[in-house]
This record gives sequence, structure tokens and C-alpha cells, in this order.
Amino acid sequence: MSAGAIDATLVGELSRIVGEAHVLTDPEITAGYVVDWTRRFAGSTPLVVRPGDTAETAAVMSVLAAARVAVVPQGGNTGLVGGSVPLGGEAVLSMRRLNVCEPVDELATQVTLGAGVTLADAQAHVAASDLSVGVDLAARDSATIGGMVATNAGGINVLRYGAMRAQVVGIEAVLADGTVVSHLAGLEKDNTGYDLGSLLAGSEGTLGIITRVRLRLHPTQPERATALLAFESAADAVRAAAALRRSVASLHALEAVFEGAMALVSSHLGLAPPVGSLANDGAGNSDGGAAWLIAEAAARTDPSDELGTAVTELDDLVVDAAVALEPAARQRLWAFRENVTEAISAAGIPHKLDVTLPAARLAEFTDGVEAVITAVDPEAQPLLFGHLGDGNVHVNVLGPGGAEPADEVDGAVLRYVAEMGGSISAEHGIGTAKLAELHLNRTEAELAAFGAIKRALDPAGLLNPNVLLP
Ligand SMILES: Cc1cc2nc3c(=O)[nH]c(=O)nc-3n(C[C@H](O)[C@H](O)[C@H](O)COP(=O)(O)OP(=O)(O)OC[C@H]3O[C@@H](n4cnc5c(N)ncnc54)[C@H](O)[C@@H]3O)c2cc1C
Repeated sequence: MSAGAIDATLVGELSRIVGEAHVLTDPEITAGYVVDWTRRFAGSTPLVVRPGDTAETAAVMSVLAAARVAVVPQGGNTGLVGGSVPLGGEAVLSMRRLNVCEPVDELATQVTLGAGVTLADAQAHVAASDLSVGVDLAARDSATIGGMVATNAGGINVLRYGAMRAQVVGIEAVLADGTVVSHLAGLEKDNTGYDLGSLLAGSEGTLGIITRVRLRLHPTQPERATALLAFESAADAVRAAAALRRSVASLHALEAVFEGAMALVSSHLGLAPPVGSLANDGAGNSDGGAAWLIAEAAARTDPSDELGTAVTELDDLVVDAAVALEPAARQRLWAFRENVTEAISAAGIPHKLDVTLPAARLAEFTDGVEAVITAVDPEAQPLLFGHLGDGNVHVNVLGPGGAEPADEVDGAVLRYVAEMGGSISAEHGIGTAKLAELHLNRTEAELAAFGAIKRALDPAGLLNPNVLLP
């Protein structure tokens, strides 16, 4: 279902709801809404609507549903699986104007935020109450709270606080027919039926339009110590990660960058990694199996002794280590992790395969995946990094000269993941990018249940029709 039913009458009706300035039809203006962050997924739309609050969102959905116009909800458009752009000519519902941060509820340590609030704005808002949001990720300046719930975003602190679903204590959403469902009291104990917040978390815009979210908050952990550790092999890094998880109670992040990605980000930053060495040709190509970990401890009191002792106990596993305490020095270490996505994007248009492996198979996977990729596309270049503390590896694959690799690479890698008992999507979702492989992780019975839920909430199939459900 596309937007064939869109005409001047419909545009007029929508303009009366949200104001003329917020109904966009000029292709020059809508161009920014139809291409995703990676530039791999590009579509087209006859219409972008930008409601300002829940009531407007509901009224817009009633009008679009009556005209049977399919809709792609969009937040910051930083999603990496082609789920946020109109690949089938759908209308785009941009949620960024729902950007109200309500006062922090200091007694409950919770806050209610509009779906269009960016993560960075949410972080700044709650920091004034000495509290923090449990999920953090590098796209924080653009990614929205609504998009983060819709994708069940993970990021760098999952090992401490869980992913986005674990932060949600209340939700408000507009269903496909314009009905508003709202449950925002935020009671920690509330067994009064189905948990719509949990259902909408990870639904990728297919079940409802999230308009407001009530989040559980956490105490800030202002004292920090960060270590960059170099390893000869992925197996050593995996063993060290397990040891650090056991011994550092204040462990806040545990991230990995593997050799090829470290070479690329170093050349992007114009810096050599402060520890370890690169056995590569300087262009991101490498035959080395080295790995780096960033381990960050965070607490209310100085955690540097705890992290320092744990790093010392790693002993022969580590080739070299650097520890930083001051913000600027810590940021210099983090740069080698936080800039990897940008470095890859600057090098070309990657296929992004975000996967989780069981800990026992992780090193086998990171060592073996290059052969799986080059067997399909001999010129493809794998670049590996990710949230190792969660078993989450981002396998990014570039073709020669930054072109896309062969499409068959995706299936080969995802089958390899599934054979090892892993998940074909750790935190980015299924979107359109992994639709064809969802069956690798989900049984027919599960997919039938997904379909039944979708039909119950969106019988006409208007919400993000090309995403998640095969
Ligand atoms: C540099 C970079 C780093 C990243 N790091 C991480 C990371 O560490 N961990 C991680 O999990 N992700 C990461 N991402 C991916 C991305 O930031 C997340 O998926 C984020 O949650 C998307 O939020 P968004 O507002 O940009 O959503 P969008 O990209 O706009 O949309 C994503 C999906 O959510 C749906 N959606 C958006 N808003 C709503 C709404 N209000 N109601 C219903 N559905 C909605 C869309 O239809 C789409 O299916 C990264 C991306 C970049 C570019």
C-alpha cells in the first residue's frame, strides 16, 4: 500500500491538523527524509507530516487510515537496517517535534519524555537532577527516545542497565486507526495485563506510533576510569572480557575493536592506537587477528583502583594497556571506538550485520567470519567491532573502493551466526535489511504469532509495511 490516495483534499485536511508548515510535499524538502544514515537505503515519499503532539499524531493517523495511506514513522533517522525510510513510497510521519522533556520525578527517579527528544537532550535534562539515562550510544545527538524504544536500542551500557526495553516503565502510543493508548504512571509493580511498553519496544514502527515514554533513571556515576587494552587474539580478548565482568563491580562499558577496524579508525583519526600495534597495510586491510578492548568503570567514588587491579590480574593475556582518569584523556581512548562507525561510513557504503554470539563461540566467530565473507565476495573487506561485554559484534563489510559488497555476503554471515547459536540482530533490529533471514532465528510458530499481533493492532497493514514481518 503506497500513498496513491494522497491528493490536495488530504493535504488540506492534514494541514488543518498540524499547520501548513508541517505538511511537506516538495521533493527538495522531503529529500532529507527518504535516505537512511548509511546511504544504503533510499526511497521516495509524496508526503512528510510533522505532528507536534499526541493529539495531532492521533488526528493525522485517523485521516491517513481513512485514506488507507501507509506510513513510516521516523525519529532521528539514525537506524541502520533500512527501517526508517519510505522504501515503498509510504508517507513519512516525522516525530521530531514531540520534543517535550517533562520535569524529572525525583521521588520515583523517572521522567516522561516526548518521542522526539534526542538522547543527548534527555541526558542533559536528567543530569540536572544527578540522574542518568540507562542507554547510551554514539548517535546520541540525533537518535530520539521514540526511535530508541522502537528499535530496543542497546549501546554501550547494556551490561550494566539492560537495553531500552528495560528502561521503559510507561508508554503512550497512537495505533494505526488513530486510537491513543496511554499508560504512563510508571508504577514499578503493575501487573494489570499485557505490557504494551514491552511489546512496542523493538516493534520498529510496525505496531504503533510511540508519542511519549516514561523512563526509569539511574544514579549518575561521575567517577570514571577507562582502560584501552591490546590483545594478540580475539580469544584472549574474550577471556579478558569474562574476567573483567567477574571482577569489576563498577564495570560500565566493555567494547571491542578488531584489527581491520582499528586500522581504519586510526587512519581516519590520523593517530596510531596508543597501545598494541597494527599488522596492516595502512588502508584498513589486515591479515592480523589482534583485538582491543575498552573497559570503563564508573562509580560514585573513584573506581580506578578496582579497574587497575583487575587489569593487572589479566597478566599475560594483555599485550599492552593504557589507563586514563581525566575526561580528556579518557575521551582520547574512546575515540578509537566511538569513531569506527563514522570512519567506515567515510570509507564507503557498508553492509552492517549486527549480531550476538554465545560467549563460548565468540572468538571462533570473529576468527572465522572473514573466510565466510571472502568465499562469497573475494574482494569484500570485513571490519569488526562492537559491544563485547554483551557478546555483540558489528560485522561491517565494504566492497572494493568503498562500494557495497555482494548482497550474498549478508545471508552467508547471518547463516554462520545462526549455526553458532547466535542472534542475527543484536540491537539494530530487522528493518528491511534482514527480513529475508528472520526465519534463521524465529520458528514458523513464532512468526505466525508475530503476524497475529500485527493484524490485531494494524489490520490494514498501514504501519511500516515493509519492515520486520516477512
Ligand atoms: C553513529 C551511530 C552509532 C549507533 N550506535 C548504536 C548503538 O550503539 N546501539 C544501538 O542499538 N543502535 C545504534 N545505532 C543505531 C540507531 O542510532 C538506533 O537504532 C536508534 O535507536 C534509532 O533512533 P532514531 O530516532 O534515529 O530512529 P529512526 O532511525 O528514525 O527509526 C528507527 C526505527 O524506529 C521506528 N520509529 C522511530 N520513531 C518511532 C516512533 N516514535 N514510534 C514508532 N516507531 C518509531 C522507525 O519506523 C524505524 O523502524 C547507531 C547509529 C549510528 C548512526
